Amino acid sequence: MNREAFIPPTSQGSASAAASGRAYQPIAAITYLCASCAAPNTLNRSDPVRCKECGHRVLYKQRTRRMVQFEAR
Ligand SMILES: [Zn+2]
Repeated sequence: MNREAFIPPTSQGSASAAASGRAYQPIAAITYLCASCAAPNTLNRSDPVRCKECGHRVLYKQRTRRMVQFEAR
């Protein structure tokens, strides 16, 4: 019997699954900023675009993941 040499593939599989799960972001809810009071609103795709704080219906999409840099001269 050489059981100790055998490594069950479950540990490796779960590790890679966790890694891929981390890379995948849930795209259901997106954070928007209210154009009136700048309150962050987390909306799903089916939710009406409306600020939950003040009821304003203009929301800006927040882009925090990517850093946008402009070169001014
Ligand atoms: Zn608002």
